[in-house]
Amino acid sequence: MATYIILLGPPGAGKGTQAEILTETTKLVHISSGDLFRENIQNQTKLGKLAKSYMDKGELVPDDVTIDMIRDRIARADCEAGAILDGFPRTPNQADELEKMLAEFGGQVNAVLYITANELILIERTSGRWSCRAQGHIYHQQFNMPKKPGICDYDGSELYHRDDDTAETVAIRIGVYLEQTMPLVEYYRKRGKLIEINGAQAVEQVTKDLLTALKDNYL
Ligand code: ADP
Ligand code: ADP
Repeated sequence: MATYIILLGPPGAGKGTQAEILTETTKLVHISSGDLFRENIQNQTKLGKLAKSYMDKGELVPDDVTIDMIRDRIARADCEAGAILDGFPRTPNQADELEKMLAEFGGQVNAVLYITANELILIERTSGRWSCRAQGHIYHQQFNMPKKPGICDYDGSELYHRDDDTAETVAIRIGVYLEQTMPLVEYYRKRGKLIEINGAQAVEQVTKDLLTALKDNYL
């Protein structure tokens, strides 16, 4: 059975940062729905144009296109052992569809890592976030600085501030999260998959807690 680990949490909680680290320890690929949409925007695909109209407003991209995009990604050969899902699912319907997909591909959700942080922290983190153009590596102007300002340590590409990381759009995204994504906490708790992690700690401590929880329970 392929292993799927879901990272759940509000915008800016640290899902992407921890997913990058977890891929090294687990050897599973990192699938970020937000990165897949941004790749489509960069490549000016039809999906990218549609996604951008929602992302700019801080709203969720409709379930049908999001689910199709993830399905195509999971069908690829590099997901044979499983994946770390960052930002998907974000609605109960997406979670139901994920179950169906995994049943078909011979995988299962082993754990849902629910990373929490309060709103002040989320705003501070998103407002200082810098992302790499080429592969979406994540930095922060204060908490996780690149070695050279404006340049990605890993691939040398340009760092940019996401259009949707403004205080105004982040506030909308947090509201959308509370309304549409929070029900997943109960969804996965009921299924015995939920592991709650305090995201309001240094990156290294969050990683330690994640790995301890995974080792104790699932890996
Ligand atoms: P998410 O994927 O949940 O939106 P990110 O991993 O992109 O969150 O992190 C948001 C911002 O906060 C980034 O700039 C990142 O460098 C920074 N960050 C992530 N985790 C921490 C942490 N534990 N402490 C301080 N800053 C963090
Ligand atoms: P963050 O972790 O900071 O919320 P993401 O990069 O995960 O940012 O998502 C950015 C935007 O991409 C979201 O605000 C939403 O518009 C869209 N998006 C990403 N994942 C999904 C999803 N699973 N369902 C619908 N929309 C999504």
